[in-house]
This record gives sequence, structure tokens and C-alpha cells, in this order.
Amino acid sequence: MKKLSVVVSVYNEVQVIELFYQELSRVLRELDCASETIYVNDGSTDGSFEKLELLTVLDKNVKLISFARNFGHEAAMIAGIDYSEGDCIICMDADLQHPVDLIFEIVKKFEEGYEVITMKRTQNKETGFLKTLISDGFYKVQNLISDEHFEENVSDFFAISKKTAYVLKTQYREKVRFLRGHIQNMDYRRTSISYEAGERAAGTSKYSI
Ligand code: UDP
Ligand code: MG
Repeated sequence: MKKLSVVVSVYNEVQVIELFYQELSRVLRELDCASETIYVNDGSTDGSFEKLELLTVLDKNVKLISFARNFGHEAAMIAGIDYSEGDCIICMDADLQHPVDLIFEIVKKFEEGYEVITMKRTQNKETGFLKTLISDGFYKVQNLISDEHFEENVSDFFAISKKTAYVLKTQYREKVRFLRGHIQNMDYRRTSISYEAGERAAGTSKYSI
């Protein structure tokens, strides 16, 4: 692998951006390849944009896409993937709930030849009863009504190859997309890694009920 892209969607995360950047930089420095981090500002109103803009000045490997308003997490990830240049693209959250150290394991799998790496949550201390119920129910219903099978508990944390990204860029252009579902059903060599989601580093969840 010559280059790794990390896509990070950001919606009002002013409290965690700096810490996330430092943690991610620590990991990227240890990797044996070039990297770029694409932050997608999803219409933040709390100063996240200004913080991210500063990172682009300080670090030439940081890129920034900024939406005029909030379009949602999926749209942000798609924009990041669209502009990515890496051989492997990792999508992850900005709040450090997706452990950055897992990037080493992801890169290893990628180098073994996997094109899609889904990340399965085993536990999330922050997730309440209602959210767990809705999430479990979602996958059950989805699997019931769909011809395709969706792995349960996969998260917005995933990695894809440049080839998979190209197919997403060219063939999957519906307005509403379910990325973690699409990538599972593209018939590329796939594996998954289980992980325990950490606690949010600061701030609160940006998803309303
Ligand atoms: N996010 C986003 N747009 C939104 C909502 C969330 O880009 O409309 C980002 C958010 O900043 C974070 C990630 O998506 O980096 C996951 O959001 P959050 O942590 O609030 O979700 P939860 O972990 O509670 O499911
Ligand atoms: Mg979170």
C-alpha cells in the first residue's frame, strides 16, 4: 500500500477535534506509508470548521470538505470517499469511539488482500437500551425484507480498497445510501474485525431519536 486515506465526518465536534487529530497522527506516523486525512465538515455551527481549517494549514496531509448545511453522516462519508486518493480508505468517527489503534489491524488485513473490512461492535457502554433495540430491530427487519444479507452490528467504521471506492463513486449514486450495507454486498473479498466501541471523548451524540 502506497497511501492510506482516512475519512472523518464532523458535525459540531469542536471539543474533540484536536485530541482526535493528535491520536490519529500518532498512528499514521507509525505506518509505513503515505497518508491523507479528509475531514468532512457536515454543516457544523460550533467552530469545528475553523479548527479543521487550521489543521489544513498546519498539516499538508489534512484535507477539508465543508458542507453548507448539515446533510448527515452518510452524505459526509460519501463526499470523503469521492475525494479520496488512497489505496485503502478508512471511514471513522471523530469522537474517538472508533479506536484509532485498530488502524494497524485494518492495514494488515488490507495487505492480506481484503477489499472490504467491516468493523463489528461487540459492546458499546454509551449505547442506551432504546438505541440498542432500534439498531437490532433495524438489522432484523432489513434481513427479513431484503434478498441480500446484512451482517449485524457492523458500524460506520469500515475500510475499503480503492477499487471498492471506485465502484461506490461510479455505480452507487442514489441520493439515500446505506454504505455499510452496500459494501457488504459488492462481492469483493471481505473480512470483519470485532471491536469494543470506546466512550465518546467529549460532547454528546449528534443523532437525535
Ligand atoms: N455526524 C455527522 N453528521 C451528522 C451526525 C453525526 O457528520 O449529522 C458525525 C459525528 O460528528 C461523528 C459521527 O458522525 O463524527 C458519529 O456521530 P455520533 O458520535 O454523534 O453518533 P453515535 O456514536 O452517537 O451513534
Ligand atoms: Mg459517537
